[in-house]
Amino acid sequence: MAERIWVDHRIRDDIRDELRRHRRWLETGGPLVGYIVDRDFVVVRAAGVENATRRRGSFQPDSAAVDRILVDEYRRSGGRLRYVGSWHSHPAGSAIPSSRDVRTAQGIAGEPDVGLPSPLQVIVATSVLPWTAQRRDLGCWQWDPRRHTLVSRPIKWTRTDLRETG
Ligand SMILES: [Zn+2]
Repeated sequence: MAERIWVDHRIRDDIRDELRRHRRWLETGGPLVGYIVDRDFVVVRAAGVENATRRRGSFQPDSAAVDRILVDEYRRSGGRLRYVGSWHSHPAGSAIPSSRDVRTAQGIAGEPDVGLPSPLQVIVATSVLPWTAQRRDLGCWQWDPRRHTLVSRPIKWTRTDLRETG
C-alpha cells in the first residue's frame, strides 16, 4: 500500500480526451503510468488504449496494446515510468468498483510479471446525458493485499516533470 498517492492534475485532460474519442455510454480506460518512490505512488499519465473491448458495463484493453504503451513510456522516460495501475469509466454510474473491478485488481496484484502487489484503480463516473457530459466524479482505489480488497484512497494533486512534451 502506498503512503501517499500523487496524481498529475493533467490526467484529467488525458481522461477527457479519451472519453471524447468513444461513445458516451461505453466504458473506456487504460493504464496509469507513473513511478513509485519510497512508498509513494506518483501517477504521471492516464493513457488510452487503441485496441480494447468497450461495453456498457465493462472495459477490456488488449494486453499487447497496453504493453506497447508501457514500453514506449519506459523508453521515453529513460526507464523511470512504469505501470502503476489502471483507470476506466463508469457511464451513468458511480466512482465505486464493481465486483468485476475487484476481481480485476486482485488478478493484477497476483500477476508475478507485473510485480505490483498493490495496483491503483481510478474510476471515473461520467454522465451520458449530452447537457451534463462534462460532469465527472473521480475515485481512486488501491488493492490492499492485507485486507484483500480495494480500498478508497485520497489523492494529492501535483504537477510532474515526466509528461511527454508536444
Ligand atoms: Zn468498473
